[in-house]
Amino acid sequence: MAGILAGKKALIFGVANDRSIAWAVARELHAQGAELAFTYAGEVLEKRVRPLAEGIGSTIVLPCDVTRDQEIEAVFQEVGRRWGGLDILVHAIAFARKEDLSQPYVQTGREGFHTALDISSYSLVVLTRHAAELMKGRGGAVVTLTYMGSEKVVPNYNVMGVAKAALEASVRYLAHDLGPEGIRVNAISAGPVKTLAASGIAGFRDMLHLVSERAPLRRNVDPAEIGRTAVYLVSDLGSGVTGETLHVDAGYNVMGM
Ligand code: NAD
Repeated sequence: MAGILAGKKALIFGVANDRSIAWAVARELHAQGAELAFTYAGEVLEKRVRPLAEGIGSTIVLPCDVTRDQEIEAVFQEVGRRWGGLDILVHAIAFARKEDLSQPYVQTGREGFHTALDISSYSLVVLTRHAAELMKGRGGAVVTLTYMGSEKVVPNYNVMGVAKAALEASVRYLAHDLGPEGIRVNAISAGPVKTLAASGIAGFRDMLHLVSERAPLRRNVDPAEIGRTAVYLVSDLGSGVTGETLHVDAGYNVMGM
């Protein structure tokens, strides 16, 4: 298929169902000709992810819980064996315990803090390290998903805001480490989208409503818009951009009042 990503191989982490932002990204990368591989976190999700992946001609669909180093290693080994290299890594993974997304942030326990930071932030570091091995000699691009709760207080976002701040800082440090190898690392700071992960945040419906009233574009973002921004960041269109966090939020983040 022709397109600006024709011949490129992309590994996607974070599809849970057809409402996932990772799925919107996958569809846009596919539309631009990229060949895709997917991972899923647990058997329950396999039933949803496999048919979606196969529907767009993907034959590499592997289990990966990012808290398990062995599963991560197995994914990259298999991708290396099948493709002999990698051009694009999409990281769209986050998790925090439900109680940590509703009680006051000051109540966050040690375990909840570690869980959120491990799954939502550290996973980018370890996945990027493995991806960089497969990108050696050919360059590549990594894109992750973040949210404005890293920069400003968003009630109930809590420990996830702290995890996203660590994620965005990681994007900058990874960009510095891997720039000499021609590997770019960027984040998309997306406006609220109704997904499985979002449903865990207390008051999420109010966030959607507020954005539709106050954002400069007076609406919420369409997941496809996030996907097309990912195409820009991972393709030659974004060849001069790395270490960046790009807001795709109908402009909401620029508002002060
Ligand atoms: P989603 O529920 O569809 O995706 C979250 C994914 O994280 C799921 O596929 C889930 O399986 C995966 N995940 C959780 N724990 C995991 C683990 N231990 N190992 C491997 N995978 C694991 O929700 P989404 O909203 O599409 O989330 C994707 C990304 O977008 C997240 O980083 C999220 O923070 C970010 N984001 C979402 C919004 C929003 O409003 N939905 C806004 C900005 C940023």
